[in-house]
Amino acid sequence: MATYDTNNIFAKILRGEIPCFKVYENDHVLAFLDIMPRAPGHTLVIPKAPARNLLDITEEDFVHVARATRLIARAAMPLFDADGMMIVQFSEPASGQEVYHLHMHVIPRFEGVALLPPATVKADMAVLAEQAAKLAAALKGA
Ligand code: AMP
Repeated sequence: MATYDTNNIFAKILRGEIPCFKVYENDHVLAFLDIMPRAPGHTLVIPKAPARNLLDITEEDFVHVARATRLIARAAMPLFDADGMMIVQFSEPASGQEVYHLHMHVIPRFEGVALLPPATVKADMAVLAEQAAKLAAALKGA
């Protein structure tokens, strides 16, 4: 398996070199909206520690990611009036991984509504900003 590339786009977001629509942060993780969401509220949860994917992250670092994933799923479900939540993680190209810093996709699902294909439509930045602010407010103190 390839090693961790410090120039991947999520590493740049962690270093503050690229902006993101932040919804949650603690000492161990950062969560922000996917800019090409497969459904409204599509959020990515990443560890601050470098990890390419599920195959190389330490158990301790993954526990922090799992905790935050649960928090975000529980906050997003009522906020987006979703019928369910889908959690997805891709490891290595054959699975569909495109960005090589571990991320959990937290995706609100709606009865009878198909997901958009991955990374197709760039969302309206104003809509993302509004959704991120609402989600961040719901997660305040969590
Ligand atoms: P994956 O196939 O699991 O590696 O998915 C990578 C995800 O990152 C896709 O859903 C992209 O839409 C998303 N993405 C790529 N660049 C950015 C970015 N700068 N900010 C937020 N999401 C991004």
